[in-house]
Amino acid sequence: MHIAILDKEKCHPKKCNHECQAYCPPVRSGTPTIEFNQGEDIYPVITENLCIGCGICVNRCPFGAIKIVTVPDELNKDIVHQYSENGFRLYSIPVPSKGITAILGPNGMGKTTTMNILSGITVPNFGDYKNAGDRDSVIEKYSNSILGDYFKSVYSGEKKVVLKSQFVDQIPKVAKGTIGEILSRSDSQGNLDRIIEQLGLGNSIDKDVKSASGGELQKLAMGVALLKDGDILLVDEVSSYLDISERLRVAKILTDLAAKGKTIFVVEHDLAILDWISDQIHLVYGSPGVYGVIVQQKSPNKAINQFLEGYLKEENVRGRRKLSSSKKVQAEER
Ligand code: SF4
Ligand code: SF4
Repeated sequence: MHIAILDKEKCHPKKCNHECQAYCPPVRSGTPTIEFNQGEDIYPVITENLCIGCGICVNRCPFGAIKIVTVPDELNKDIVHQYSENGFRLYSIPVPSKGITAILGPNGMGKTTTMNILSGITVPNFGDYKNAGDRDSVIEKYSNSILGDYFKSVYSGEKKVVLKSQFVDQIPKVAKGTIGEILSRSDSQGNLDRIIEQLGLGNSIDKDVKSASGGELQKLAMGVALLKDGDILLVDEVSSYLDISERLRVAKILTDLAAKGKTIFVVEHDLAILDWISDQIHLVYGSPGVYGVIVQQKSPNKAINQFLEGYLKEENVRGRRKLSSSKKVQAEER
């Protein structure tokens, strides 16, 4: 099976000669594999089951807007969420477990989509991208499993979920006031002073959010999430902008919360922090911007070793490609 992804930000149908369609072999022999709609949507639509995966459209598009990736047919049975016809898709989601569950993998493979699904913000559509996901269908799909109970409690509000988003640089666009004022607005349980102390935000509370540094925004986002005091805490990339001592500070907060019984999911790239805080790790594999598969959980040690093996293999391949292309350039220059 071939997955075809069209990046609409890169696709400019009015600035090209529709090379994707013009050079597509099935189209040339009369099969409507790539079509342009007549209505308002000016973008091409690639019908995946008519695609032979030759990759010609990928090479011919002058803006690099298409990706074609071949995946095993059976993968399609497990689709959890698909954004659009030629859009990213996520296969499988992690099963909630006790303690801290981490999701580890390269960017663009659905880690944030997974966090949004677990938080209830995104309701899985199971590949039916033309219709919005339906909460009852999700509960039905996962009935008699831990995930079914999880979604039931999240959707009903029985369990409160709090998400610390990765996009901390967006905070000044949506929040007004000083760091202290923003934190106070989330302080429903009277924990403000403790959280400020734990995060080491004491010297920043009078600073206007518009002039806050990346590290202060990260700690502010974490502070707001902690003050909201949910039953389930989802932490999407907390290490960015933080130095090592600040990362350790946050890691300690998370392990203390887990020890008190809170369910925590983290998406994180700092392997040392992950090794310390995680009780289990789900690796993610796939193709960036095309698809992602969340693999069954492993022990932190095993998962991190496997992740590093994959990373080193990839680096070797990249290194060899770089070497052979520079040799080619040298040979051409001679
Ligand atoms: S995919 Fe590329 S070639 Fe096809 S319409 Fe978009 S920009 Fe043009
Ligand atoms: S990969 Fe080949 S067959 Fe598939 S849409 Fe592109 S050009 Fe057509």
